[in-house]
This record gives sequence, C-alpha cells and structure tokens, in this order.
Amino acid sequence: MEFAELAEFFEKLEKESSRLKMMSLLAELLRKASTKEVNIVVYLCQGKLAPEYKQLEFGLGEKFVVEAIARVSGYPKQKVEEKYKKLGDLGLVAQEFVKDKKQLSLFREKLSVEKVYENFLKIAKASGIRSQELKIKLLAELLNSAEPLEARYIVRIPLEELRLGIGDPTIMDALALIYLEEFKKIEKEKIASMEEHQIRMLLRERIEAKYNVHPDLGELAQMLKKKGLEGLKEIKIEIGVPIRPTLAERLPSAEEIIKKLGKCAVEAKYDGFRLQCHKSKDKVFIFSRRQENVTHMFPEIVEAIKKQIKADEAIFEGEALAVNEATGEFFPFQITIQRKRKYEIEKLSKELPLKLFVFDVMYLNGKNLMEKPFRERRKILEGIIKKGKVIELTEQIITSDAKKLEDYFNECVEKGLEGIIAKDLDAKYIAGARKFAWIKLKRSYKGELTDTLDLVIVGYFTGRGARAKFGLGALLAACYNPDKDEFETIAKIGSGMTEEKMVELEKMLSKIKVDKKPARVFAKIKPDFWVEPKYVVEVMADEITKSPTHSCASRDIGYGLALRFPRMVKLRTDRSAEEATTVHEIIELFEQQHKIKTEPTEKTKEAATNGVSKNEDK
Ligand code: ATP
Repeated sequence: MEFAELAEFFEKLEKESSRLKMMSLLAELLRKASTKEVNIVVYLCQGKLAPEYKQLEFGLGEKFVVEAIARVSGYPKQKVEEKYKKLGDLGLVAQEFVKDKKQLSLFREKLSVEKVYENFLKIAKASGIRSQELKIKLLAELLNSAEPLEARYIVRIPLEELRLGIGDPTIMDALALIYLEEFKKIEKEKIASMEEHQIRMLLRERIEAKYNVHPDLGELAQMLKKKGLEGLKEIKIEIGVPIRPTLAERLPSAEEIIKKLGKCAVEAKYDGFRLQCHKSKDKVFIFSRRQENVTHMFPEIVEAIKKQIKADEAIFEGEALAVNEATGEFFPFQITIQRKRKYEIEKLSKELPLKLFVFDVMYLNGKNLMEKPFRERRKILEGIIKKGKVIELTEQIITSDAKKLEDYFNECVEKGLEGIIAKDLDAKYIAGARKFAWIKLKRSYKGELTDTLDLVIVGYFTGRGARAKFGLGALLAACYNPDKDEFETIAKIGSGMTEEKMVELEKMLSKIKVDKKPARVFAKIKPDFWVEPKYVVEVMADEITKSPTHSCASRDIGYGLALRFPRMVKLRTDRSAEEATTVHEIIELFEQQHKIKTEPTEKTKEAATNGVSKNEDK
C-alpha cells in the first residue's frame, strides 16, 4: 500500500466525528491492506510501532523534527519555528513547508507504508552518540519523498501526536465487521435467531478473548488475513507476551460479598504493584499491570523466580511490595513506589528489597490453566513455589461466614494492608475484565464515596476572575465506556489544584487541544476547549448524583450521573485513558451509595447510635 493512500484515510478519520463511521472506514482500510502490511497499518493507525509491551519508543524531540523540515525545505530553522508558533502543530508545519519547498528533491521515490515503517523503526532503535543525527536523517529522507499530506502524518506519528482517537476496541470492532460474513457461515445454527448487531458482538467477543491473552492487534489482524477466522485458533498464550489482567469488582460489605459468592477464598489485599511474571527455563520477563516490561527494575525478583519457581515454564501473578526487614512490617505504597524507577536500580533493590506475594497462575509447562477453576489453580500454584526469602503465597482463608470475612478484613487493615479481595473458588481466570470473580473490600469503603476515581480530561474551561491569568479554571472529566470505546463526561473539576498546577495543566493541555469534540467523547456540556482524551486524573468527590448536564451512564440507565464536589488529587501518569474508571463502575458505586443510604449496614447503624461519624475511623 502506498503511504499516500494511508494518509488519505488518516485525513478522513481525523475529520470523522461518528465512531460508527470511523469503524467502517477503518474496516475498509484494513480490507485493502495486504497480509504482509496489515499489522503495520494497525500499529500506524494507533500512532505506534508495536504493541505497548514491546516498548518501542521513537525518542524524537520537536527540535529534531524542526531540523529535518528545515533541511528538506531549504528554509532556515527560524522560519520553521515561527510557523510552528503560529500553527501549534508540527504536522501542519511540515505539510506547508513541503508544499512550498525551495529546492527540488533529487531522489524522490513514492513512499510505501513499509518504507515509512522501516524508517520509523530505525528512528526508534537508533542509539548512541550519533543517534540524533541519524534520526534527523531518517526523517528527512521520508519528508524528502513526501507529498504535503503525507508529510503531515510522517511528522505527527513519531512525535506521538497522531490523535486519530482509535483505541484497541475500535480496531476490534472493525475486525469483527470484516469477518462477519465468514462468521455467519461458520456459526449458521448458533446465530439463527440473532440480530445482525448481536452476531457482530459475538464475533467481537471471540476476537477480544484472543486479544486478552495476546494483546497484539497487528498480529491478530495479520493472522485473520492469512487464515480467516480459523487463524484465531493459532493465537495462544506465549511466554514473553503479557496476558491482560483480571480486575476486581467492589461491594460495600462482607454480607454482600458472601451473598454474591457464598463460600469463597478471602485474601489479604497487599498495596504494592501487580507483577505478571513469565519464566521459561532461565529466562524471566516481568510485566506491570499496564503490560510494560519492567524486568530490569526488579533484579531480586528475577533471581528469586529462577530459584523459587519449580517449573520449566510458568506465567503467574503477584503483588510486590517493600517490607521493612528489621520489623517484618509492610511499607506503605508511597515507599514501595520508589522502586519503579529507571536509575540506581541495584542500589535501591538493596535498600528497599521487595517481597512478591503470588496469587494466581495462568500457564504451566505448556498448559493453559486459565479455564481451570481458581481452587485448582491455587493448588497448582502452591505446588510450584519453593520456600525462600522473596516469593511467598498470599495469605488466604476460605469461608462462607460474613462475620469471619469481616474479622479477617479488620485483621488485614490492622496489619497495614489495604483490605481484602474475595475470590470465587469456581471462577476461571477472566483476562482483561472486571467481573465478580474477584471482589475487593477496602478500608475506605464506608458508604460514601471515599474511594477515588480515575477520570480522563476531555476538555477545559478558561478561568474567570482571578483565574483568568492561568488560562484554565476547570477541567472537564470523563469516565470510560469500554463497550462503546467512548468517554462520557461526569464532572467539571475546579478545585484541588494549586496555582502552579493550573499553569502546568494548561501547558500540557494546550498541546493536545483539538478544534472539535473528539469522536470518542460523548457529552452534552461544551468546554471552552476540547482536548484529546489522554491524561488521567485521580479525583475525590462527596457522592454521585443524578445530573442533567453530564452524559455519564445516561444511555445505560436513562439519566446522567455526576460527581458532587469533585476535587483533583493528582495526575495519574501510570494510567492510560482506557484504564480510567468505567461507566459500569460508576453505576455500581451510585447504586451502592443509594443502598447504604436507605438500608444502613450493622456498622453504620452502630456508628449512628454511638454518634460517631462514619469517617472517623479512617
Ligand atoms: P486499586 O486502586 O483498587 O488497586 P486497580 O484497578 O488497580 O485499583 P483493583 O481491580 O481495584 O485494581 O484491585 C485489584 C488489585 O489489587 C490487583 O490489580 C492487585 O494489584 C492488587 N492485589 C493486592 N493483593 C491481591 C491479592 N491477594 N489478589 C489479587 N490482587 C491483589
């Protein structure tokens, strides 16, 4: 495929504000791509070179891009910079300068998608003293052969500013659309009484199930192109490819948890970071909850896996946290988090050694264990751990008694843990989803909304009065709807920010401003500026209320939901927009809040009679 054709699609996608139309445009594009290049097309549509876990980053600053544009166009750098100040987008700057090139290019070739990708890869992999010059040269080579529209995207992609708003769910939707007819033929009987969109959703679920164990959509699209739906069977768990994690639901009390699960396993909820460990003989990979490869950060865990895991091949999960060796007590999260760093790793691993509390196993010696019930997986896990200093099993009790669960919860909280996670003994490992296989109960759930939410900034309001000078007075924040791959607004946040923070936020947000509502945002309210849904903020609020202004949940429950007295806690740079709190979680929290208000639990009744506020024991 010529890159010019891809650029035209990008332009159409950029203008499109309906997600459904985006999905069919994307399907059209993926149909056109050949087997050899379809994976590349998928990555480029997302402005990436590879799935997240491969961590291929361009490492190309704006300065290099300005230099490359200047070289190719024959204009001085200063002119390029002036234009950038005016347009605020180096993609558009490149487009204009390529159009008005002073010098004729001698060696122009028509750019193919593969050629562009090849140079991008070289840019990402360049390292060492001469790498800056090499990166500029590689980019200039592309710009030299580019038509103006191609130049726009050749610059935006390595700057990570493509902003087409295509998340993984939209790509899966497009794939389901492409293979729908084949699916109908294969599943003729099963789908006989289903409607068209239900059939598409069923196929979409099958695709997603594969994506959850092997989150590389480029490879998935390529396998489908090669073998049709048969190809899905070949997508398997693989050592070195992170499985998407199972997530926990919330319930407000021990009684509710027992009502939902009956006899269940109850485990201590450690407050560190989740690590997914892969072992193949002497090779170890460790992935974070966001599927980043963090192996190099935890040398003592790598060594412990080699020594303490009795298996040739295994994929298992645990929570790592720093333990005070002198007292045996757990350090709080703020201390443990210091271990997530790029430098002085060895030194810190000695000062703040981690323990890994393992809680699940998904793969062992060539066998996928995800379909097995949790009780069996736990037995298998127990069988592969040798006693040692670093790796231990999570603490666990099994009970069907709410009182015992509550006592265990209190015991955990007293030890400085976050609370408990109750686990369905019969559940399979549900990759990539928040289902009732796991239910968390944290010390902060005492009825009102004391747990924070992670929301995505989708726009902002310029300040009035004293705030006008910061250019930002409030943020428009949204939660995520994974079914629709859309962001639904829930709060206008004007407090919790210092003056410096407001200035800093304005600087960050003005860089990702877009001139119309992004296609993936569903909103009734209109901010002064829309921004690409990218940054996640942790937000505290008093409660969730019904709202005529916000769109959150309105398509699910008939009315919108909003936060009362929202205030910003901090930016969460460790979360992507798609990892924000979901609409379904908000609905649940809203319902739980309602339940607690109308039917006080034993605890709140007791507190009320003692005249104690529900928050005082925090
Ligand atoms: P939170 O801020 O509550 O951790 P989260 O979305 O990151 O939110 P949850 O789904 O709420 O994660 O809770 C599950 C997390 O709890 C897991 O991702 C894991 O990191 C941690 N955890 C601690 N102890 C356990 C345990 N025994 N079993 C499973 N997960 C545990």
